[in-house]
Amino acid sequence: MAEPVPRFLADVYEAASRCNKCSLCQAVCPTYLTNPVEWETARGRVALVRDAIEGRLELRDIADGPLSTCLTCNNCIAACAPRVPTGDIVSRARQELHAQEGHPPVQTLVFRSVLPHPGMLATAHRLSRAVQATGLHWLARRSGMTRWMGAAGAFMEHVGPLPARTAHQRARGLPAVEGAVRGRVAVFVCCYQNLCAPEASEAVMRVLLANGFEVDVPRLGCGGLPAKSLGDRDAMRDMARRTVEALEPLEVDAVVGDTASCTAHLRRCGEILEDEPLLAAPADRVAARTWRAAEFLDREGLSAPLGPLRWTVAYDQPCSLPLDGDARRVPQRLLAAIPELELRPLTEAEMCCGGAGDYFRREPERSAAILARKLEHVAAAGVEILVTDNVSCLTQLREGARHHLPSLRVMHLFEVLLASIESARRRGAGPRG
Ligand code: SF4
Ligand code: SF4
Repeated sequence: MAEPVPRFLADVYEAASRCNKCSLCQAVCPTYLTNPVEWETARGRVALVRDAIEGRLELRDIADGPLSTCLTCNNCIAACAPRVPTGDIVSRARQELHAQEGHPPVQTLVFRSVLPHPGMLATAHRLSRAVQATGLHWLARRSGMTRWMGAAGAFMEHVGPLPARTAHQRARGLPAVEGAVRGRVAVFVCCYQNLCAPEASEAVMRVLLANGFEVDVPRLGCGGLPAKSLGDRDAMRDMARRTVEALEPLEVDAVVGDTASCTAHLRRCGEILEDEPLLAAPADRVAARTWRAAEFLDREGLSAPLGPLRWTVAYDQPCSLPLDGDARRVPQRLLAAIPELELRPLTEAEMCCGGAGDYFRREPERSAAILARKLEHVAAAGVEILVTDNVSCLTQLREGARHHLPSLRVMHLFEVLLASIESARRRGAGPRG
């Protein structure tokens, strides 16, 4: 019989064909664990995408369900001997579906006219703050009106009132670098964290300064990860281009990202722009010098003294981290360096919390079920603080704690490191070096 010829998605067809149907991915897939049916696991999703590629069904037939409920977390790869990248295959299938059908108009507007432009993001922040000042934001949340306000209402509910100052604004009031200057870095601020959790980005900047690194904080738009996740390939490439053009000329030793997922995406910008004659090489250079903040600090070594914190903490791993290598152990190593801090193990720490970008909005019931499972493990660990280093995880876990574990505090890894540095300062220790 003749080999099937892929109708589309030729670039992931070979990877999808590697699935040997062993079913080992079931045990590590958050969506399957909360809804154990075949199409909720990597095996089922990959088989359906392959059926679509070979013409036995259309992508539209699997859009609602197999494609929409996947978190694209790629946790299934951990159990998969042939390393089938199901999250990437699902992302590409969503892109192909949207190429066939077009994009939702509001999403198109946001991806082209808001997210790529730092000025528009600042305007959105000012508008949101103005609405908060009138009390309408509070009223909308209290009255349940947010349920009828689409995506804007879902975000209002999820992240709560926005802090008064963005991370970009906070960057203007930073202290001088401490001790001998060890280098200069550009901080790649995630646009979502810039608005919703700027204290985490500020902590990254302050910890870098305390450790002898000058920081440059370029005002950037989105790096393109949301567009990738929601299947808008053109918007993803446009945002990658803008980011590379802004970062490549900077005279810095490294680009340091404040969130795990956007940094991982930026590290793939060479791949995303590989067919662009003028940008492929600059994109490769940006990718090569981009580091997640935790990995950068671990590689360079802490120079700022750490003071004691009598906290019990657990670390929840962002699912965007690579499964191989050391990336997932780095935060524990940094936390273990803090005197008197008790770091407890967390069951299924590597499994997605159901945040995954705007998954909480698109799949609210599934997201809540996945979050509930995560919070059960956190409660069993008996910690007072849950630590992570990704903004989607921060907002999702904070929302979960607000409703179900009110005594739990959720912090970015660098907020904890900054608290430890401040503890050392209170005890009168000066900077090293
Ligand atoms: S990417 Fe995540 S949600 Fe999707 S099949 Fe794999 S483990 Fe499940
Ligand atoms: S673990 Fe990998 S090879 Fe096995 S069924 Fe799942 S996707 Fe297929």
